[in-house]
Amino acid sequence: MDYDVAVVGGGPAGSSAATMLARAGHRVGLFERDTFPRFHIGESLLASTNEALDAMGAAAKIRAMHFPEKWGAIFATADGRFESYIGFSTSGEVPQPQTWQVERAKFDQVLLEHAASCGVVVHQPQRVIDARLDAEGVLLGLAHEGAASRRVRARAIVDASGRWGLLARKLNLRVPEPRLANIAIFSHFSGVARPSGPRPTDIRIIAREDLGWFWVIPIDASLTSVGVVLRRDVFDQLPRLSHEDHLERAIAETPAIRPLMAGARREWAVRVEKDFSYGARQYAGDRWLLVGDAGSFLDPVFSTGVAIALESGVEAGRMLDGALRDGDVSARRFATFNRVQRARYVAFRRFVTGFYTRPFRDVFYNPDPPPRLLSAVVTLLAGYWKPSLATTLRLEYFYLLTWLQRQLRLLPAVPSVGTAGGGGADDTA
Ligand SMILES: Cc1cc2nc3c(=O)[nH]c(=O)nc-3n(C[C@H](O)[C@H](O)[C@H](O)COP(=O)(O)OP(=O)(O)OC[C@H]3O[C@@H](n4cnc5c(N)ncnc54)[C@H](O)[C@@H]3O)c2cc1C
Repeated sequence: MDYDVAVVGGGPAGSSAATMLARAGHRVGLFERDTFPRFHIGESLLASTNEALDAMGAAAKIRAMHFPEKWGAIFATADGRFESYIGFSTSGEVPQPQTWQVERAKFDQVLLEHAASCGVVVHQPQRVIDARLDAEGVLLGLAHEGAASRRVRARAIVDASGRWGLLARKLNLRVPEPRLANIAIFSHFSGVARPSGPRPTDIRIIAREDLGWFWVIPIDASLTSVGVVLRRDVFDQLPRLSHEDHLERAIAETPAIRPLMAGARREWAVRVEKDFSYGARQYAGDRWLLVGDAGSFLDPVFSTGVAIALESGVEAGRMLDGALRDGDVSARRFATFNRVQRARYVAFRRFVTGFYTRPFRDVFYNPDPPPRLLSAVVTLLAGYWKPSLATTLRLEYFYLLTWLQRQLRLLPAVPSVGTAGGGGADDTA
């Protein structure tokens, strides 16, 4: 046996799972297709990531990077008339309200190097082309530059291969999310205006009338990540344009973002990601666990991706540690892991799918929310998806309000500007 555990992928999910296992004394081999540092989207973190970073022993290393601080998020309407700040510290259930906005190339590299410093054997660039599960463990087929090279044996596998989904594809585990069929168009810019005031580097989320939205995420002293997410049906109605022109057009037609971009210069090519949301039928089985995007991914609107990746990696590491010690890495041992992954996905999914409907936005952008209701929403948006009973009930009340808004239209609609192609998507569901 070459390793106790083979981890496929060196993003946040792979690094966290591998680190936990190596720190528990297991022999871990991690296989990463790319050579780090490499570009990755997903730059705004949630407060809950602090706990995962603590568990991995990596918090001090991330703090030493001096990434821009994130204390919450600014939510604005496309016309710029409404803007509200949601601070993580307004929830009493968020132990460490400050997190970061990161350049992922650096963030992921620090975590991967941390894994190596904890004893993980990191192989990169090393693509895994196959994983065969049998009664003894798993046999990985490795390739380098297209040529089949060698095989590696381990007692169990953690699939952290991100959207690629090595095992999810092989075992046909993916569940599509047609309600989140969106497309993201984005780049990095210098010279984007930052608000004055105490929290100039917090993420800004600007809702568009067509149910799309913009993100504006400062990732270092000069660079800002700017992207627009459009519903696929809205995007398909647009004229055929280059990625650059799509992004420029979206900026030009969204008043709240135009002034921020007046002095901006694009520093990278414009990138596009689409069809990024999916669930999983199952997150673990005999000798295998899926973590992070290799399991499921939700639309990026509430920045849940890295938090889920790190937390699921930590959970997988703990779960597998116990299973290896007891000499039983069968599916039965991972039933709790499976349940937790599914429950977290369902909890966030309810909120995320809501954001793409008008009644939800009318309630969410209410300029004068009751403080306790706001605090409950903040708790979830900070990443705490399993809050106290009181907060859970308040969140249910929030969903009830969105239902009432759908039926009765009690609140005014969110202002109607910033529309792809001039006509808003019709989704009152
Ligand atoms: C448009 C967009 C915006 C986003 N914005 C945010 C945000 O603001 N905040 C946030 O938290 N999240 C965001 N996300 C989500 C975030 O990017 C992901 O959830 C996060 O990167 C998941 O981490 P991971 O470790 O599971 O996967 P990844 O970070 O994708 O890492 C997977 C790794 O596996 C490697 N790999 C793949 N296949 C193989 C193979 N066969 N062999 C070896 N290695 C392999 C890859 O090279 C990669 O390094 C966004 C996503 C999108 C699409």
